[in-house]
Amino acid sequence: MRVHHLNCGSMREIEGPVGERSAAVCHCLLVETEQGLVLVDTGIGLHDIADPPRTLGSDFVSWARPVLDPAETAIRQVEALGYDVGDVRDIVMTHLHLDHAGALADFPEATVHVSATELKTATTADRYPHQQWAHGPRWAAYDFDEGDIWNGFENVRPAEGLPSEILLVPLPGHTDGHLGVAVACESGWLLHAGDSYYYHGELASAPAPAPDMLEALQSSTETDRELRLANVRQLSSLAASGVRVFCAHDPWEFRDALRG
Ligand SMILES: [Zn+2]
Repeated sequence: MRVHHLNCGSMREIEGPVGERSAAVCHCLLVETEQGLVLVDTGIGLHDIADPPRTLGSDFVSWARPVLDPAETAIRQVEALGYDVGDVRDIVMTHLHLDHAGALADFPEATVHVSATELKTATTADRYPHQQWAHGPRWAAYDFDEGDIWNGFENVRPAEGLPSEILLVPLPGHTDGHLGVAVACESGWLLHAGDSYYYHGELASAPAPAPDMLEALQSSTETDRELRLANVRQLSSLAASGVRVFCAHDPWEFRDALRG
C-alpha cells in the first residue's frame, strides 16, 4: 500500500545529534487502501488553530509553541494530494493526547479506531482535550487481551474493516492504552510507535538519551515507565531487523521517512 508521511504540526525546536536543532513534528501517516484513505494520528487540526487555548490549552501552547499553520493540517494536506475529506474513511489513533487528536473534528464522518483502555481514560480524565471530540466520532474501540504475535509483539490485531496490512500493536507505557500502528507498504513493514519514545537515539544499538527537555516531558506524562522502556528495547530490536520504526515527534526520523 502507498503511504504518505505527513507532518501535521510543527512545534518548538529540539536539539539533536551534534547540536543540530530542528522543529519537532507531528508525524502522521496517510495510507491509500482499496477501502479508502486511512489516517494514522491526526496532529493539530483547524479547530486548534482557530482557538488554540480552547482545545490545546494555554500551557501546551506556551510550552510546545505549535506553529499553527493551516497548511500543515491533515485535511489541507489530504486536499493538496487531490482527495476530499470524505475519502478519509478511517483514522487509527496511537493515543488521544491533544497533539495527536487535534484534527479528529476535521474528519467528522471517519471511523476512529482506538484502544478501549485509551478511550475510557480519555473520556473520563480531565487532562485529555474533550473538546477535540465534542462532535461525537464513530469510535471503534479494541481490547487487547488476546491477539496474534507480530515480530515478537503480543496481542496484535487488525482493525475492523481495514486491510490486514494495517495492524494495531499494543505499546503501553506512555499511556495505558497506547498503540503502535504497523503498516505494510511497498518497501516493507513500518511501525508508527506514537509517543513510545521521543528521540531516535533511544533506539540505537548504543542508546543515546533523549534531550533533557524531552526526557522531562516523557517522565511527566508516562503512566508506566518500566513497561515503556521494555517496549523501547523491543522497538530497538525491531528497527535493527530492518523494519522502519519511528515515533511521532522526532524530526530526524520524519526527514528520513520522506527520503524513503
Ligand atoms: Zn505526542
